[in-house]
Amino acid sequence: MDNLRIELTQHPKKKPGKGDKLGFGTVFTDHMMLMEYDRGIGWHDARIVPYGNISLSPASTVLHYAQETFEGMKAYRSTDGRVLLFRPEENFKRLNRSNERLCIPALDVDFCVESLKELVMIDKDWIPEAEGSSLYIRPFIIGNESKLGVKEADNYIYCVLLSPSGAYYESGLKPVPIYVEEEYVRAVRGGTGFAKTGGNYACSLRAQTVAHEKGYSQVLWLDGVEKKYVGEVGAMNIFFVIDGEVITPELDGSILPGITRMSMMELLRRDGYKVTERQIAIQEVADAYDAGKLDEMFGTGTAAVISPVGELKWGDKIMKINNGEIGPISAHAYKELTDIQWGRAKGPDGWSVEIGHM
Ligand SMILES: *Cc1c(COP(=O)(O)O)cnc(C)c1O
Repeated sequence: MDNLRIELTQHPKKKPGKGDKLGFGTVFTDHMMLMEYDRGIGWHDARIVPYGNISLSPASTVLHYAQETFEGMKAYRSTDGRVLLFRPEENFKRLNRSNERLCIPALDVDFCVESLKELVMIDKDWIPEAEGSSLYIRPFIIGNESKLGVKEADNYIYCVLLSPSGAYYESGLKPVPIYVEEEYVRAVRGGTGFAKTGGNYACSLRAQTVAHEKGYSQVLWLDGVEKKYVGEVGAMNIFFVIDGEVITPELDGSILPGITRMSMMELLRRDGYKVTERQIAIQEVADAYDAGKLDEMFGTGTAAVISPVGELKWGDKIMKINNGEIGPISAHAYKELTDIQWGRAKGPDGWSVEIGHM
């Protein structure tokens, strides 16, 4: 690409070995992507450079007013050595929808996808090999004007980090316990819930911490106005299987439009399941449970793909779902999607994007 400068590191780091535990988001590759925006000039100076710290003015917009957006996606290594991305243009289209909401200037989606391919191929030796592991990709943008006045920044930094990450489930797909959050809310319609922005996480940390203290892995968020309708969980969208029908809350502006969510709905419909997007009240879920019709419940997101819910607590009511075991539809959906992502099966056109070989 002629508008992308590449500066390779002179000091490559030691890559994690085959047996090393990778965890999530702590190890970074040798390179990263950077690009700046200045009002009047536009996005400029795109470059791949050695991974390192970036320097900001202490008055930088993002540090005070959280003008930030991000994405999360993965590069996968197939057993026959192909390097694959999953629907990458969807991530950058979503990044632009988040940008619009946060008054951040739009990016060129094709340029983001093409420069990402270059970056991943430069650091392809960092894509881990172990079953279920992948190279996590974190594009993000920060407002970076040195000025304390509250307004959209005139200057921005776009950055992409790569981080080898281990299999989300080291010991198989284990259903998690979650509870319905009745005190705190994550987002409201008209707010920023549909945007992938750090502020949504900042305000969710308190609930997350309390949940961990109580021995739960996540909270199930309700709508921020009536606290009646189901939203999503942590960094995942939520699905219920009620009497054989797969149901997920409709996108009402307060829910993050997950790419895993969208892909899961398409796959399950293709495979003949009835999939419905609609408002669903927590009372309806409890009623379905009492009637013996709450068959399965699972979260979806890039990190875990699927996270089955084994226990749902709502006030004093404890609902044990499918005996705390992964259900047949969850297991089927997990296998179908991961087979496509890791290149073991051919998915719908354009889903798995081969960008090179090891
Ligand atoms: C990223 C994210 C998701 C999942 O989106 P995917 O595109 O499937 O990874 C769900 N909820 C929130 C709040 C998120 O930030």
